Amino acid sequence: KFISFEGPDGAGKTSVLRAIQKRLVDQLGADRVMYTREPGGNHISEQIRRVLFSPENTDMDGRTEALLFAAARRQHIVSEIVPGLRAGKVILCDRYVDSSIAYQGAGRQLGEEAIWQMNQFAIDGLLPDLTIYLDVESAVGLRRIAEHRADQVNRLDEEKLAFHQTVRAAYLRLYRAHPDRIKLIDASQPLDQVIADVAQTIEQRFPD
Ligand code: C5P
Ligand code: MG
Repeated sequence: KFISFEGPDGAGKTSVLRAIQKRLVDQLGADRVMYTREPGGNHISEQIRRVLFSPENTDMDGRTEALLFAAARRQHIVSEIVPGLRAGKVILCDRYVDSSIAYQGAGRQLGEEAIWQMNQFAIDGLLPDLTIYLDVESAVGLRRIAEHRADQVNRLDEEKLAFHQTVRAAYLRLYRAHPDRIKLIDASQPLDQVIADVAQTIEQRFPD
């Protein structure tokens, strides 16, 4: 089972993922659950991640950025996701192709359709069985980042409100276009409630 987690910055993705991982490990055992993140998760994708997020690379072209995310994604699929699926694991993936549609396609204005097409080559048909989309209003998300993580902000985090609103609008379009795959969770709720909603959504999708 392949489950991706998506959302704009400040949605609480990291905290929710940590809690869900713990619940599933308690239920299924540690060797049946795999947490992994994009871009990264293996030594090649981690190198690409460093290039993407380096403070030196503020002059990176948008298409270059999109291609690097797709390259990291491809290697992550081959090195982590496919072996995990073959081993029968539940894979919790922190970001996947929808992030590229929202951030590069919409946020960087490269075109959602163009980024989708370009990523088809990278993912070669592998879409998640379930995508958890943590939805939060952009101003709320940005406020959370300012309050809790001002010290850990990376190059791509330093975008303004309008950028985040564009990203969120794209996520909402994806959600409406793929209602079977993508489930929306109201991430403006208290963290415990968000976690409970996500857990329930996963149980509904995979009853056994
Ligand atoms: O998931 P996380 O918040 O750690 O992602 C790090 C940053 O990378 C995000 O703040 C987001 O702005 C950026 N990002 C991006 N394009 C992607 C994925 C992430 O710009 N495809
Ligand atoms: Mg972030």
